Amino acid sequence: MSTKIPTNSARRIGTVGICGIVAFWLDNRGVMAQTLDIGIRIELVSMDRHFHDISLGLYRLDGADGAEFLVHSYSRLAGVAGRLAFVAGAMKTMGGLVAAENGRLRFPCGREHNRGVRRVFLDICKLDPGEPPAARELNVFDQKAAATVTVTSYDNGRYTFAADEDADKAAARAGAIARGIVKLAETTLEDDTTVSFDCGHGHDVLVAQLLPRATNVRAAVREQETAASRGVLAAPSQQE
Ligand SMILES: [Zn+2]
Repeated sequence: MSTKIPTNSARRIGTVGICGIVAFWLDNRGVMAQTLDIGIRIELVSMDRHFHDISLGLYRLDGADGAEFLVHSYSRLAGVAGRLAFVAGAMKTMGGLVAAENGRLRFPCGREHNRGVRRVFLDICKLDPGEPPAARELNVFDQKAAATVTVTSYDNGRYTFAADEDADKAAARAGAIARGIVKLAETTLEDDTTVSFDCGHGHDVLVAQLLPRATNVRAAVREQETAASRGVLAAPSQQE
């Protein structure tokens, strides 16, 4: 007799599961229509530690003037709109994005700058919401060189990197940080310490925000890959 218990349990769970799916479908018909308008998810924070562990997504859409972005959550908790507004506002202050229509965001150049925008989104979701978001400056102290590396912005989206020490080690680190920005912001390396954006526009705020990550680009890339695999593998119900 005891062998029937798991069977009944399984049946019950199956029934509950089907009811759950039907209820979800009935409940989300409106939302499903909405998914057509929010575009493709390009980054995911599956558990927002600053707001009730909800999941937050960054979505890309095709706007009239190029790529647009939307910070979105399917959570219906009270206060979600405020949390989304904080993240979107910080994307402007710390990523150099500007407002597009319908609460969306875009880069002034209209390009996607996929890696850069995803990195900034991940970093902003980690911010302490109690502190007002602020743009970084175009320099970073590099531990390995024991020197400050300063970035100079030129016309047409070109940037050069220079350390405030003459040592070979410092010059090498300026080059390493420039290559870090190539990886993180998808810029082109023009020479050892010069990079440029293919769009031909300056992105000072974005570059400044990515600079600390560029000092240890391997760790930054690893973290982003882990986040990406979590987003792909985990169904919404399984996200921790
Ligand atoms: Zn651009």
